[in-house]
Amino acid sequence: MMKRCTRCILPEDFPNIRFNSDGICNYCLEWDRRWKNFDYGQAKEELKRIFAGAKDRKRRYDCLIPYSGGRDSTYVAYLCKKKYKLNPLLVTFNNCFMSEDALRNILNTVQILNVDHIFCSYRPEDLRSFYRTMLINAGEFCSICTSGINYVRIKYQKLFNIPLVILGTSSRTDEQSPFEVITSHPFYVRKVLLKNGFENGQVAAFLLRRHFEWGVLEKIKAKLLGTDYQEINLPDYVPWNNQDIQDVMEEELGWKTPDKKKDHIDCRFASIKYYLKNKQIPHFIFKQEKYSQLIRDGQITREDALIELNKLLKIENEDPAELKDFLRFFDLKMKDIENREKKSHLNFISKEDLEIKESLISKIASLPWRLYKKLTFY
Ligand SMILES: [Zn+2]
Repeated sequence: MMKRCTRCILPEDFPNIRFNSDGICNYCLEWDRRWKNFDYGQAKEELKRIFAGAKDRKRRYDCLIPYSGGRDSTYVAYLCKKKYKLNPLLVTFNNCFMSEDALRNILNTVQILNVDHIFCSYRPEDLRSFYRTMLINAGEFCSICTSGINYVRIKYQKLFNIPLVILGTSSRTDEQSPFEVITSHPFYVRKVLLKNGFENGQVAAFLLRRHFEWGVLEKIKAKLLGTDYQEINLPDYVPWNNQDIQDVMEEELGWKTPDKKKDHIDCRFASIKYYLKNKQIPHFIFKQEKYSQLIRDGQITREDALIELNKLLKIENEDPAELKDFLRFFDLKMKDIENREKKSHLNFISKEDLEIKESLISKIASLPWRLYKKLTFY
């Protein structure tokens, strides 16, 4: 019998896990430090200040919302427009395999909220070969979606000079996989694509540098030209309860979820993500992270989570219903994804590489930046 945290359901073989004398894991304790005594009053004031700042810029749009058509991003769009009275631009990255539910929800939401929306497609042939390359060489494909979502958010923020980007991901309730399990870091994606025959220009056109990767000159230029922007995760400021969100959206947006237990309804191939991970790490269930977050947040009980987890463990080796469609879509054979060699992102990048690279970037970026700030503001 696998030992698990006595409070959440993370198992003893979870990366970097430690238990205290009560059997509670370090992930639970970390969560407590961040969220247990969270001050919503203070967060609300902070949010007010951020929104007022964005409106004061008097740009065409107050904020940009990366919009997948899933539950969280739809709720972000709803709150921004209806509650906070912002003028948002919604942008959707078309990965060419969005679910019908997501497409229907997008059209419906845009109409009901009466907002501007851009549906951005990236050359489908290039995109498909990016996905294929990641699948064949690193056994995953989610990193390309993450990169694509970055792409649309960076492109359109810049195009309309939007002062604020608002995301719907939450460090309180969403799964937070450690680096050992999954990464979509641009260093890694770049490395895999370049190693497998893509040209520098082709990769650079798609993998845009994120805000934290900006160099000093870029930052200074952005400040001077007024093109800098802020990025926030809305669930870090307001309560984010699944059931409440579901109720509001059904009532206000005519929201339909065919299967309420199903997460990630915006991706047609969500089940394949889990299937492929089990080829790398047997018995690893992504949902155990999500359930653990919800237990900590008091949204489900540990008993219910364990029942759901055991159901998932039972079917971990079954082929998902979408598998044939998936293989056909990416023009792959079963042998391309069987992954007997246990290929993963770890063959291309280590935690140490990443830490060294990141700290170098931040060191180089932050020193002259601090000096510049001193010179201009004091
Ligand atoms: Zn725990």
